[in-house]
Amino acid sequence: MLKQVAVIEGDDAAPEAMRPVIQLLQNQNLPVSLVYPEVGQPAIDSAGTAFPAEAKECIDSSDATLFGATSGPSGAALMYLRWGKNTFANVRPCRYFPGIASPLLKPDGIDFTIVRENLEDLYVAVEGDLSELEFLDKPGRTTRKPIRELGEGRYAIKAITREGTERVVRFAFDLARKRAKQNKVTCVVKHNMLRESDGFFLEVANEVAEVNGDVEFDHFIVDDFACRMIREPQRFDVIVMPNLYGDLLSDAAGGLLGSLGLAASGCYGSDYAYFEPAHGTAPDIAGKNIINPTATLMTVGMMMEYLGFSEFATRLERAIEQVYSDGTALTPDQGGNASTSAMVQAVADVL
Ligand code: ATP
Repeated sequence: MLKQVAVIEGDDAAPEAMRPVIQLLQNQNLPVSLVYPEVGQPAIDSAGTAFPAEAKECIDSSDATLFGATSGPSGAALMYLRWGKNTFANVRPCRYFPGIASPLLKPDGIDFTIVRENLEDLYVAVEGDLSELEFLDKPGRTTRKPIRELGEGRYAIKAITREGTERVVRFAFDLARKRAKQNKVTCVVKHNMLRESDGFFLEVANEVAEVNGDVEFDHFIVDDFACRMIREPQRFDVIVMPNLYGDLLSDAAGGLLGSLGLAASGCYGSDYAYFEPAHGTAPDIAGKNIINPTATLMTVGMMMEYLGFSEFATRLERAIEQVYSDGTALTPDQGGNASTSAMVQAVADVL
């Protein structure tokens, strides 16, 4: 069945990875049609807004969206893909295979996936002046210091809801079953300090774990986990956590493999998903044709799996692994001297 994908190439160096990867995809003659909604600066120039109604319709009528990273006004589309399409689970795999220039002495066997809650936590973006919160100073409320005594300052709200937590933790359990590696979910929170918010995340996670007893479940405090992720990454399978910790730790997980250029990512809701490499736009290497395309290739693999082209997704993954084990067509961040387009071509040749 024909699938439609909305493509937004992104900014700075992102299109340099997206274009050859899209070409590779098109050369496969799969029943996938690509459409290009106009967003960001070109849309401001022609329609006076960064995210016109036509772009929204184009995304809505597509089966998924593929997004290069953005640093500019096309971020408006990203807000819609996230909060407008309710894509609550951000899935970020971290898997080592031979040929990857990891800084670790023994990277063999690293194969875990971070599931980051994607819509809540500090990202509800409710911030303001501390003086607005003085109404919270009332007898019986346990705080370390009354708010009116804190002095000039700002606050940000960390919102953890039952619905938001339940659905992302359930998603993590389903994923653990599908991966069938260790069949384990680990929850990462800071419930010792944030008893209400992170405490609630853990409480709800425990409830979900109880009705998913076939999958092992444990939890760690986020600072302890950060250390374990580097010391013993092989012991983890699926790791679920609130938004901010997921944002930070998934970049750190990219560091375990040696480059953000290896970090793929997909954001899933109940009836929509969009796919975007975990790295940013890499402005410092824009225009040089050296951005590592692996994250974009693997992100496309995740998207193709989601769209039902599992056989192609597996072949693509094997082709990427082959190029790494050959080691002759790697970009500079992985110790090679190949260009982005040469590396994609090497993957295409194996395919
Ligand atoms: P954001 O806030 O959007 O995540 P950022 O500026 O924090 O963006 P990146 O754009 O991801 O971070 O870049 C961080 C560093 O990693 C830069 O030096 C960049 O060149 C490098 N980098 C990121 N992605 C890649 C890639 N695919 N290949 C090679 N280097 C990359």
